[in-house]
Amino acid sequence: MKVRITSYTATAVWRWDVPEDDVCGICRVQFDGTCPNCRFPGDDCSLVNGKCGHSFHLHCINDWIQTEASGGLCPMCRQKFEFGAV
Ligand SMILES: [Zn+2]
Ligand SMILES: [Zn+2]
Ligand SMILES: [Zn+2]
Repeated sequence: MKVRITSYTATAVWRWDVPEDDVCGICRVQFDGTCPNCRFPGDDCSLVNGKCGHSFHLHCINDWIQTEASGGLCPMCRQKFEFGAV
């Protein structure tokens, strides 16, 4: 039996209809994937929620906070970023 896949090719690269909340605000990868530095979901690539209400990959926000340019602020709303309760 032959199965022809016709309309399935490149749909997963970028989806514009995804709500902003479903992607990491830093790397723009969806939360069911990993940050660009990790290859496998689940390992240490967890999600963190800031008290401001924005969520990021742990690695992404850690890297961001450590840059001097960040000033310790949330990259989305520019409030001081504090880790909220998960
Ligand atoms: Zn990320
Ligand atoms: Zn990661
Ligand atoms: Zn924020």
